[in-house]
Amino acid sequence: MDFDYTPEQEAFRQRIRDFLKANLPPNAARAGTPQSGIQPDHAFLKQWQRKLCEAGLLGITWPKKYGGAGLSDVELAIFNEEMAMAGAPVPNVSVFGPVMLAHATEEQKLRYLPRALAGEERWCLLLSEPGSGSDLGSVRTRAELQGDEFIVNGHKVWNSGAHMADFGLMLARTDTRAPKHRGLTYMIVDMKDPGVEVRPLRQITGSSDFNEVFLTNVRVPRTNVVGRINEGWQVAVATLTNERGSLALATIVDYFNIFDDLVKMARTLRKDGQPVVQDPRMRQELAQFYVDLMTMKYTIYRYFTRWLKGATPGPEGSVNKLAWSELNKRMYDFALAIQGPASQLMPGEPRAIADGRWTFGFLRSRANTIEAGTSEIHRNAIAERILGLPKGR
Ligand SMILES: Cc1cc2nc3c(=O)[nH]c(=O)nc-3n(C[C@H](O)[C@H](O)[C@H](O)COP(=O)(O)OP(=O)(O)OC[C@H]3O[C@@H](n4cnc5c(N)ncnc54)[C@H](O)[C@@H]3O)c2cc1C
Repeated sequence: MDFDYTPEQEAFRQRIRDFLKANLPPNAARAGTPQSGIQPDHAFLKQWQRKLCEAGLLGITWPKKYGGAGLSDVELAIFNEEMAMAGAPVPNVSVFGPVMLAHATEEQKLRYLPRALAGEERWCLLLSEPGSGSDLGSVRTRAELQGDEFIVNGHKVWNSGAHMADFGLMLARTDTRAPKHRGLTYMIVDMKDPGVEVRPLRQITGSSDFNEVFLTNVRVPRTNVVGRINEGWQVAVATLTNERGSLALATIVDYFNIFDDLVKMARTLRKDGQPVVQDPRMRQELAQFYVDLMTMKYTIYRYFTRWLKGATPGPEGSVNKLAWSELNKRMYDFALAIQGPASQLMPGEPRAIADGRWTFGFLRSRANTIEAGTSEIHRNAIAERILGLPKGR
């Protein structure tokens, strides 16, 4: 690991700081990060994305011809770090972008990437189905080729942002006779097609960020295939690996921010007549969070260094995803425990601490150990692919 940056990289860092100082409204701090426990303001996020894009600060590693900044992963890491330190929301193009860059045709990249970066067109992922989440290879949504079009019928679920999306990247079965991972194809679906019905799902937090999507005789031009017909599994694996890698890089500073806020709250709340932070058992828990965060930080740096040296993201992503999502849950458990009865109050309740942010975040943190692969799936990956333990039945 090399922690030194070149003068050019330091200048890039300063450019981001200057931009944030001039443009980030104080009330935007940490809005829009699912980890922060603060509910996203979508109108603000749209404007914010356009501003970042105009300043050349989005799509850091994307080639300039697709609207990106044409820089390296180091600048991307600097960008993520600075944004998280300022509490600035980062528009989520990190899952869809790399997959399109790696697998889409030149026409598709030129058509879709610049508009996605500018926030003019929004995207969602249409992968999971009832009965096909962890076992994504078993998807049953059917895409039948008729002439130059696929006719798509099926039912997707848990699709984040589908209610606001213009396009969806979808995984569908195109060959029902092939072995389960070989008959799948990845394609772009126009969410405005009359056969697409989006039904928002209400979550335990009270908000509706994800949806069910019903597809009835949806027409998808053959030219919308991303990658090759019947080879969608490889693209899906790349999507999931990117989701895990990019989430880890972007979230580490977020978690340090949450930890700092937790310590501040522990200094102000009282237990048995003294500040919570004076209680030896509570201090021990806070210290353990810090130890875990530092371990996570250096594990992510090591992973990132390997990535910079050309290794493709692999099962180490499972270690990071498992560590951050479980740690986040523990930090929110602790936050609620020290609040006592106030922990029951949701945002908007007059007596809620920090406007119910911790209660909202506690409920939202449950989703972290499910999205981008459940903790059980990552434990299996670590056991089998890193530790070399025998496969379970
Ligand atoms: C916040 C959030 C956002 C999401 N966004 C999207 C999105 O935008 N697009 C999209 O397509 N999907 C999305 N998902 C869906 C997500 O990918 C799935 O929920 C996830 O893959 C788990 O699948 P499942 O819900 O079908 O659970 P299942 O796979 O049915 O798992 C149920 C339980 O069984 C366990 N389990 C399953 N298989 C094994 C095994 N082999 N060994 C041990 N335990 C096992 C799981 O760990 C889990 O506890 C999102 C989910 C969440 C929570």
